[in-house]
Amino acid sequence: MEDQLRKSDMLNVIGELAAGIAHEIRNPMTSLKGFIQLLKGSIDGYSMYFNIIMAELERIESIVNEFLVLSKPQVVHFKMFNVVQIMKETIELLHAQAMMDNIQFRTNYEEKDIPIYCEPNQIKQVFINIIKNAIEVMPKGKFITITIAKDNSQFVKVSIKDEGTGIPKEKLKKLGQPFYTTKERGTGLGLMISYKIIKEHGGKIEVESELGKGTVFHVILPIDKRKSNNINQ
Ligand code: ADP
Ligand code: MG
Repeated sequence: MEDQLRKSDMLNVIGELAAGIAHEIRNPMTSLKGFIQLLKGSIDGYSMYFNIIMAELERIESIVNEFLVLSKPQVVHFKMFNVVQIMKETIELLHAQAMMDNIQFRTNYEEKDIPIYCEPNQIKQVFINIIKNAIEVMPKGKFITITIAKDNSQFVKVSIKDEGTGIPKEKLKKLGQPFYTTKERGTGLGLMISYKIIKEHGGKIEVESELGKGTVFHVILPIDKRKSNNINQ
């Protein structure tokens, strides 16, 4: 409990700092990239160096962009919105990427219309993060199974199941820690942002995983956090 509190305090502070810094970094980054492009076009040779510089700048940019999501709470508009619709839009967005890896989506929606009190863009961001991780961890030609069902009258459970490598037990508690990544080009920010968003929605994320079999991320959200008790504490 105390640990959990400390973790959420830490996330808030990091979030505010990060969002501020990210904004400041973005403009000089854009101008750096522009001038590198110009140089590349006007100087012969050295193209390998320019490519490396561009790739590294792009990497900084992707980290900055992930941090910028943290500043979104300033403009959040909570409203009743169909969570199934958010998932459908997310899958549409990631469809091409999944196809390239020969991954198929299986969906299982208990109802077509399950409105929840949320900020739809943030919930979509969470679904994108979790499904992207699922795609990245899957050997070719497998399924991502998505289930959305009411847990009881107060909560909805969105489960995203992959058939990937699984996560070792001792690593489960590291999920959501800033910069925890096992990927060569990962940022270790996607889950941290997702945990923060879901917490702000009065919900929680649970993870079940079996090595060599796969992982399920359960996103549990109150239908209307104004009416139900917060499930975090
Ligand atoms: P990133 O994807 O940039 O590494 P994330 O915060 O999205 O950062 O994920 C952190 C780490 O959690 C990943 O590097 C990976 O080790 C682990 N992880 C997340 N989702 C899965 C999954 N579906 N299967 C296996 N490992 C996962
Ligand atoms: Mg990720």
